[in-house]
Amino acid sequence: MAVAEPAAASRVTAVIIGAGMSGLLAAIRLKAAGVDSFVILEKQGDVGGTWHDNSYPGASCDVPSYLYSYSFAPNPDWTRAFARQPEIQAYFRRVAEDHGLLPHVRFHTSVAGARFDEVAGEWTVTAESGESWTGRILIVGVGQLNRPWIPDVPGRESFGGVQFHSARWRHDIDLSGKRIASVGNGASAVQYIPEIAPLAERLTIFQRSANWIIKRDDKEIPEGVRKANRALPLLPKFNRLLIYSILESRWGAFKQTGSRASKTLEKLAREQLEAQVHDPQLRALLTPDYPIGCKRVLISDDYYPAVSRPNVDIVTDPIDRIVPEGIVTRSGKQVPLDVIVWGTGFDTGGFLMPLEIEGRGGRRLHDAWANGAEAFRGVTVSGFPNMFVLYGPNTNLGHNSIIFMSERQMDYAMRLIETLLQRDLAAIEPKAEVQSAWNADLQARLAGTVWAAGCASWYKHDGKITNNWSSSTLEFWRQTRRADLENYTLTPRAVAKAA
Ligand code: NAP
Repeated sequence: MAVAEPAAASRVTAVIIGAGMSGLLAAIRLKAAGVDSFVILEKQGDVGGTWHDNSYPGASCDVPSYLYSYSFAPNPDWTRAFARQPEIQAYFRRVAEDHGLLPHVRFHTSVAGARFDEVAGEWTVTAESGESWTGRILIVGVGQLNRPWIPDVPGRESFGGVQFHSARWRHDIDLSGKRIASVGNGASAVQYIPEIAPLAERLTIFQRSANWIIKRDDKEIPEGVRKANRALPLLPKFNRLLIYSILESRWGAFKQTGSRASKTLEKLAREQLEAQVHDPQLRALLTPDYPIGCKRVLISDDYYPAVSRPNVDIVTDPIDRIVPEGIVTRSGKQVPLDVIVWGTGFDTGGFLMPLEIEGRGGRRLHDAWANGAEAFRGVTVSGFPNMFVLYGPNTNLGHNSIIFMSERQMDYAMRLIETLLQRDLAAIEPKAEVQSAWNADLQARLAGTVWAAGCASWYKHDGKITNNWSSSTLEFWRQTRRADLENYTLTPRAVAKAA
């Protein structure tokens, strides 16, 4: 999109991009450190990020609620073991209100790019509207999955019915009695399919690969438990620790293909499939052909019962084209449709796309990341001083909560930010050789993980695993618990001005 003429920049100490889970966390930590001069630029009209965007029926978190919340803002009132999207979105909004963040947020503000001024030691962040903000600190919290992706199937625009992406759900469309297609059967689809299958006249799932699915065991949290949580604040904290420990114990299943832990996880998945799907042909269709964990392990209690319904079909014949009446498969079969739901995930091709970020010497971040994004400890990037990326390269997980990871990243970033402010630095950035060595070690460890086991997934960019962390979350904690300034170049303001 074209950027309008620049106006005079507003001056703040820090600019945060994104008011989702990470951006709000960044703002809370800045405030706690006494930095009150910051702006949060958010392209949507509300906070919550992914929990604002993904409102499809059945949208919920696949990390248990007691853990999927900030450690400093436990919620005794979660109503379900796995909270639904409206409750999670309300949680983030409440936290934002409680911490006085809303006056800092500029909604409907889509950032075009940011440029670093080496002499001033400042970032100027420009919105598509042309408005700009200048600050010494740039925090990017835009997430890894924010651009819905729809494959370019021939004839897509010719479809005569309604089509939409799962992250842009058309709540105005009544699906009752409709012939619906779900293209894709991933993490989002296994949540909305059980909700829409009972409404549809016919639901056809276009499946490219089967997924490993384990039990979710979702249930309501009774009012009595919520009352106890309110009376005894240690109770939800204890639950959180317990859940964290159970999930962390699953790391072994991802660390190495074919490990005992991975076999145990696969056994759980096979047992679930056998218990819920009685038709051997359907069971065969639903059995993955790659090692468990290579793609995200899905959790669901109701996906298999939904696909076993008589009005649901699974089609594995690849999609050839779309015609006004429906989808035509490669073997020439036409599936007549009223609605196509694209449950095809997100464009993960380029980190922080489409932001145009220019660091030291005008270097473009996308050029620096042309062979796959990489950062130091997932947070800082050589050549891009004073920039802190949350949920950045190699910080995604297959086994535990991303909020835990983001808190560790922001704690680490805060130590560096405090150094920057206290020592009046123009720039703080990781040394290039340190970043390279750290990433070489990271990639060596990733090579043994299940993600390298030969399946296609959004965790990779041209074969390089750019999205996932390589070890346990405890190891990430260990690596980020102090400001390792020996790995950084610190440039005092006076030196930058004189240069
Ligand atoms: P996804 O898991 O990546 O699933 C995309 C689906 O679309 C897959 O089944 C994929 O098949 C299929 N697909 C893609 N291109 C296709 C094509 N050209 N033709 C046919 N099928 C195609 O996407 P998602 O469901 O949106 O989830 C993305 C991520 O969001 C998850 O991995 C997870 O991290 C996150 N998420 C989290 C939650 C949560 O509860 N916390 C919920 C939803 C999503 P292949 O498998 O063959 O590629």
